[in-house]
Parts: sequence; C-alpha cells; structure tokens
Amino acid sequence: MSAPSTWRQFDTTHVWHPYTQHGLPRAQVPIVRAEGAYLFDADGRPILDAISSWWVTTHGHAHPEIATAIADQAGRLEQVIFAGFTHEPAAMLAAELVRVLPSGLEKIFFSDDGSTAVEVSVKMALQYWANRGTPRPLVAALTNAYHGDTFGAMSLSGRGVFTKPFDAHLFEVARLPDPTEGDVVSAFAALIDTRGSELAALVVEPLLLGAGGMRVWEPSALRGLHDLAKAAGVLLIADEVLTGFGRTGPLFASGGAGITPDIVCLSKGLTGGFLPLGVTGCTNEIFEGFLSGDRTKTLFHGHSFTANPIACAAARASLALFTEECDVRRREIERVHVSQLDELRNLPVVRRPRVLGTVAAFDFGQEDADYLNPIGPRLGAYALDRGVLLRPLGNTVYILPPYCITASELVRIYEVIRTFAEGA
Ligand code: PLP
Repeated sequence: MSAPSTWRQFDTTHVWHPYTQHGLPRAQVPIVRAEGAYLFDADGRPILDAISSWWVTTHGHAHPEIATAIADQAGRLEQVIFAGFTHEPAAMLAAELVRVLPSGLEKIFFSDDGSTAVEVSVKMALQYWANRGTPRPLVAALTNAYHGDTFGAMSLSGRGVFTKPFDAHLFEVARLPDPTEGDVVSAFAALIDTRGSELAALVVEPLLLGAGGMRVWEPSALRGLHDLAKAAGVLLIADEVLTGFGRTGPLFASGGAGITPDIVCLSKGLTGGFLPLGVTGCTNEIFEGFLSGDRTKTLFHGHSFTANPIACAAARASLALFTEECDVRRREIERVHVSQLDELRNLPVVRRPRVLGTVAAFDFGQEDADYLNPIGPRLGAYALDRGVLLRPLGNTVYILPPYCITASELVRIYEVIRTFAEGA
C-alpha cells in the first residue's frame, strides 16, 4: 500500500470529483477504512456517517456478512456476459426481490446504478406502447423531482442548477406540481383530459422528493395518482432508488402506501451500499408487450456489467439482513428523529421539520430551499470538524443514517446541528 501522503497528492493531481467545484479551496477527506456507522480517515479519526455515504449504506459500512458474500462470489464467478448467459446470483436475487416487492412486479431487468435503472424504466414504458402499435411519446414527472444525471434521467428531473447547461438537449416532459406545494392529483387529472392519449407514463419518487430538497409528500396523493394512472392506462413508474430498502419505514415506499406501480427502479441500498447495481422491475403485462417473433420489438438495452455476479451476491446478502431486528432498528431511528427534531423546532432557524422513516430534514433559515445556499457547505465543514459527515442540500439539512446507528450516536449528530444553529 502507498502512503496516504502519496495517494493524496495523486488525487489532487489527477482526480476530478463528482459535484465538486475544484476552483474552490476544499480538500477531499482521505478515508482508509469504514466500519458500522463510521468512516476512518488517514489519521485514524472516526467520522460518523450521517448521510449513509450518499444514501447507499443500509446495514452499516463493511458489514461482515455482505463482505464475505462478495469475497466468496469473487473467487467463483466474477463476471459473465448477461445476454445469452445467466448465473445463480442474478436468478436467485430476481426471485428474492419479486418476493418482497409490491405484489404484481414479476420481472427484473438489471443495470448499473440509479440513473440507468431510471433510463431503462422510461425506455420500457415508451417501447411498450410503440410495440403495441399505439405509440405514446409523452412522459410526465414532478416539479422538484430528481432521477439522476444521465440525459433521460435529467429530462425527468426538475429543471434547475444541475440541468441548466443541458436544458436545450433534454426531452419534453409534462410537468406536474411538487406534491408538497400543489394539488398534484387534480393536475394529473387535467393532464389526462388534455393529453392522456399521448401519455406513456408518470414517473414519481414515492413519498419523498430526495435531492429536490427532502420533501415529504402524502400517501393519499400517491394513491390518487396511481388510481388515475390505472384508469387512464398510463404506466406508473416508482423511482425507489432512494426510498427502497427500508429508507422510509416499510421496505418500499410504494408498497407501504398500498400501491403497486407498473415499473419500479431500485439501486443505492440494493447491495447494502457495497457495489453499484440497478434494477428495473415490471409487471408481466409490460414484459409480455415485448414478446414477439419480430426482433425489432426487443428491449435493446444492456450494459457491460449487467447483473454482475459479485454485485448480485452483495444484494442477496443485504436482503437477507432485513430481519425483524432491522425493522426494530429503523423504528428506533424514526423515534429518535421525531423527538430530536421536536427539540430543535424551537430554534428560529429551523423551518418545516419533517420525518419519514429513517430520514429527517428541515430547512435552515427563512430563505426558500436553494441548493447553492452557502449554509450547506458551512454546516458540512463545521460538522466534519466535529467528526460528523453531513452534506446538506443547500439550506436543506437532512440526516439519513445507516440502520446500525445507535440512539446515542444519532443524538450526537443532532447536538452538532444544534450548536451550529445556535451560533448562526
Ligand atoms: N433516483 C433517485 C430518486 C435518486 O435519489 C438518485 C440519486 O440520488 C438517482 C435516481 C440516481 O442514482 P445514481 O446516482 O445511482 O445514478
């Protein structure tokens, strides 16, 4: 192994980091290992991971059972082309996912990450209608949505600072109101009245608009959208890349709200946060819309690492850890969030405190939510100095911890936020 001073220098010289303005003075924190809820930097200093390392770590860092499953699989079958070939980890994972997904989602298409899972979902929906000979070119999505950084996913996402340089190249989307701000169900009904026959699908992040500001919306609105979509024959795509695998309480937000979407997108927590893997699940009806003797009706989509066996083995090991004990831990996180936010809410800078399962958030200060608000980097740096990893979305502060976090560790995160807020 090279000394941290050497590889840190190579990082500075050669690496371009994501969502990072390298023109501003901010060093990358060198992490050498991780365990449970903690990352450890090159000096051995523990950093409590309050955001599950971009929302992916579910059971905890370096969980031994997932690590062992990965090592076992890597020594047996590390990779094989998934067109024309198959393997046990993918087939077993598909069956295990179908067992826990909202009932009716029967087919699993693998890809690489959240963005590709979303890309596949939209291609599935558009081609489903095209294959039937009744093309529907339009897709609807929510204001303040975030679905990823590839072009299709950016098209579906709300327009803003992330998409601005590319806006001219993004496809048309029928935009519905943010359900936390407007009557999304009536707006969808009106859209169906005017353009229903053009509408292939509606894409939503069920109950939680994540990167758009951790905005929590009502299950009744989700059910309203679902019922309208069903009646109009519009496909409902649930992007559960963030909300899947227990984040919002139940294993899947859509299932918890009592609906089955036509298509679901999964990633992030799918492998417990160990390896990249995406899944697009769909109903048999959609799958059957591609069955034909005509090869042009094939879903022409695949990635080099589709259904990578090691990633599938990690996902199977992670899924097996969703026991009753894990449910108890998630409920405990929610309980601590509610009581801690209740104490914070008296501070004048704490606005719109909200909790959904293991996710807690509030808006800092009186300004509207804004990703470029400097309070985010300031709080992030303040927390890091105190051994806590927070990465606010501008002035939206959120806590989204791995499920292994203890109540006292969670309280410590709130104490850091409180001292910052009191000094602000
Ligand atoms: N969809 C949602 C709801 C997300 O929150 C994200 C990422 O944050 C994505 C899609 C994109 O996932 P990825 O970053 O793995 O491409």
